[in-house]
Amino acid sequence: MLFKQPIEKVFAEVKSSPKGLHNGEIDRRLRDFGPNQIAQTKKKDYRIEYLKEYISFFPILLEVAGLLALVAHYFQPGEGNDILAYAVFAAVFINATFTFWQKFKADKAMEALLKLVKSEAMVLRDGETMTIDARDVVPGDILILSEGDKVAADAILFESNDLYLNLSVLNGESTPSLRNLNHGDATRELDAKNMVFAGAAITNGNGLAVVVATGEATEFGKIARMTAEVGKTETPIEKEIKHMTKILTLLALGAGVVFFLLGWFSDRGLLISAIFALSLIVANVPEGLLPTITLSLSLASQRMARRQALIKNLNSVETLGSATVICSDKTGTLTQNEMTVQTAWLPNGCGCSVTGKGYYEDGEWQFTGEPGRSPHESKSTTFPSLQRVLQLAAINTHAQVDFKAKTSFGDPTEIALLVAAQKAQAEFGDWEKVKEYAFSSERKMMSTLVKPAGEYKESLAVKGALEAVLPLCNHWQGDSGLQPLDSDKIAEINRQNEKMAAQAYRVLAIATKVGDGENDLVFVGLLGLMDPPRNGVKEAVAQCYSAHIRVMMITGDNPITARAIGEKVGLKIDEVLTGHDLDHLGDDQLRGKLRDKHLLFARMASAQKLRIAQLLQDNGEVVAMTGDGVNDSPALKKADIGIAMGSGTDVAKESGDMILLDDNFKSIVAAVEEGRTVYFNIKKLTTYILSSNVPEIVPYILSFFLKIPLPLSVIQILLIDLGTDQLPGLGLGSEKPEKHIMKRPPVGKDEKILDREVFKRGYFMNGMFEAGAAMFAFLGFLFLTGWEYGNLDISDEYHRQAMTMTLLGAITCQMANVFTLRSWEDSLWNLQGTNKMIWFGVGTEVFFVLLILYAPPVQTVFNTATVPLEYLWLLIPFPILLLLNHEWYKKRQREKWANYVPA
Ligand code: ATP
Repeated sequence: MLFKQPIEKVFAEVKSSPKGLHNGEIDRRLRDFGPNQIAQTKKKDYRIEYLKEYISFFPILLEVAGLLALVAHYFQPGEGNDILAYAVFAAVFINATFTFWQKFKADKAMEALLKLVKSEAMVLRDGETMTIDARDVVPGDILILSEGDKVAADAILFESNDLYLNLSVLNGESTPSLRNLNHGDATRELDAKNMVFAGAAITNGNGLAVVVATGEATEFGKIARMTAEVGKTETPIEKEIKHMTKILTLLALGAGVVFFLLGWFSDRGLLISAIFALSLIVANVPEGLLPTITLSLSLASQRMARRQALIKNLNSVETLGSATVICSDKTGTLTQNEMTVQTAWLPNGCGCSVTGKGYYEDGEWQFTGEPGRSPHESKSTTFPSLQRVLQLAAINTHAQVDFKAKTSFGDPTEIALLVAAQKAQAEFGDWEKVKEYAFSSERKMMSTLVKPAGEYKESLAVKGALEAVLPLCNHWQGDSGLQPLDSDKIAEINRQNEKMAAQAYRVLAIATKVGDGENDLVFVGLLGLMDPPRNGVKEAVAQCYSAHIRVMMITGDNPITARAIGEKVGLKIDEVLTGHDLDHLGDDQLRGKLRDKHLLFARMASAQKLRIAQLLQDNGEVVAMTGDGVNDSPALKKADIGIAMGSGTDVAKESGDMILLDDNFKSIVAAVEEGRTVYFNIKKLTTYILSSNVPEIVPYILSFFLKIPLPLSVIQILLIDLGTDQLPGLGLGSEKPEKHIMKRPPVGKDEKILDREVFKRGYFMNGMFEAGAAMFAFLGFLFLTGWEYGNLDISDEYHRQAMTMTLLGAITCQMANVFTLRSWEDSLWNLQGTNKMIWFGVGTEVFFVLLILYAPPVQTVFNTATVPLEYLWLLIPFPILLLLNHEWYKKRQREKWANYVPA
């Protein structure tokens, strides 16, 4: 067992060294060991998926209808039932293919998105640190492990600083376990304390380890092969649509039975009545809705990905539209996370500042002087002290900067320290790292014990938040040696800290001591780092407020710095609460503040985010919460939408519903906009699809009660539902955001997509106009051509002409419908841009209309005939009425929102 061997032997065994593999070696190892991935257990067989489209409930109904038509043809040839049968089969084929295509496209869109969630690993190769695709890790590679990483492969540790591993994916144990360099008395790999395992998460500390197994040879690989694929859970929208489909199916079945009986008793013949009833059922159940909605959700998530927000689960697209509060981190989300040290203060009272922007620009330290000394004098006396401060800061980091190649690695705060040290030529000389007290957001500090070359004693370099570091100090570094830290000096240091924080600087306190232990430290200075707000964040924050969304900053930084940054980006701040304040507030009090005030949270521990999410939810808010660290993951899971930073830890990314590829607050707002858009697009397309059911049913019902010929045939109903409606419907699903979408309040949490409004607009408003259109065209044509009421004995050609008018009445209304539905609230005339998919859909409808009117083979299939042009004006009034009515209705809606005052 390799983990029991001395580390030198392990290196010999995997033919590697602490500096890592040679680059030339990698390809050979990748060939020998294969990529570091676990083969997917099960792939969808799309041939079977396609076949399934023919054997579910609704296609089977149609197939039965087709077979019945064939039977009817057998007994009574020459009545066109054979053509009906083939047309019904064709409808089954077209519908199955279209539905399959939509599902396939949605799947592919999701796959493409998931590919963006790359797993990376930091390794050492040829002595150089590099970030590589986790799939390229090979045995012998050196993994550089830090807090929040998901381990890429099984590896044996040879350096470990406070390293804790969460092994829950492997053994279900969620308490992190400490790793060190001893294997203990383990008898198998999984129990070895000196090993880390693929898939496990590092919850604390850092370390170096040499890879001994990759891909399926890892412990995780062995388990993964055993476990079957986990079942997919249904999203609420899927449930909602299935529920709605069920109700509509029952209604349609009921109506089908009634129509069947009516038809049979009114001598339409048993078979014909059955075919009609079955087709009516199929036509009235919007079974194509689910794939259309799934596709429009995945298209929305693709659009979001283009705007840097990666949705992991489609359901969150919808939830985003309902977000009422965004709780955002500060560093990197509202700010650029590009730190530069800009000022320093030394305890002798001397202030300094440094020029040169960015990491690689040259710069120079300047002295603003101190009481009793000119800047020039100060420079000569204090420069060595400043250099010492910067030396201590620079050795106490994990970052790396290559000034020549202009590349850098690591935490931006730490990179900034290296750059500042370089600008002061503060070289530390050769030294050896003895030990590290790792940084954590909870401790807010970090220390490194080093042994300078040639020196006998070790020194400890300490950096961190002032309130974490200062209580551990008992001396300060004066020009003439160590001075005891009295209350006056403490007050002076605190004043200076506040002054820097009020100017939006992130302040780091630097301390040191000879020897080990984070106590009895010597305070040596303060460094002020600037992290400017991101471009566009101010506008995005303003947009949130106008969209009735509150924004709360939750940061680990100092309250004064946090407020200063908050004000810069335009946050409304009624009160700043610190983590300490929070501990002293009861749930009821805090809930009250969260309800009534614009709050900003500073010096927060990650665990407190969970409480905030919970209390906000108790208040009925829909919470979007950002996070990047390991400890953020409970809050990310709790929030309605957990938003992990793209640069954040793997653990946070796994817990979030959405990953912000560029960490930018602006992208959250863009995602909210898309979420709201897709919510309304689904409403629009559902309304559109429901509308055309009315002109299909009403004429049929009327034909029972009035003495008129049948206005619409089965195949014509199928033509509308499974033919002409599909493409424009899809177009509505991909409509662009509406102009006022970020001016209205969030979508209510309990507001269903398929609510009364959809049924009202679909069935009762637009649908009724369409039924009116169909009957107006049908009866208008009959009366204008001399038909007498009650005459059912008309020629086949004449009947076909009249039915063509009904069909065209419905189709032309759907054309007007699709245009006015492009916006749920805005006027059609104010819409910007066009929707190509809708134009394409309407174009195909026009083409179909021409075929119906003038192409004899098409006419044979769809029971239509050429109608003289002089009657076509009958098709004009109702689409216009539908359009005007819906536009008027939207105007009233807009007035309602204009006067909306949030509760
Ligand atoms: P946010 O929560 O918005 O990301 P943050 O980055 O300030 O804010 P943390 O990273 O938790 O939050 O840092 C908390 C505090 O710890 C900082 O204000 C700083 O004083 C200190 N700190 C940050 N980085 C380091 C570091 N690398 N070494 C030592 N102390 C640090």
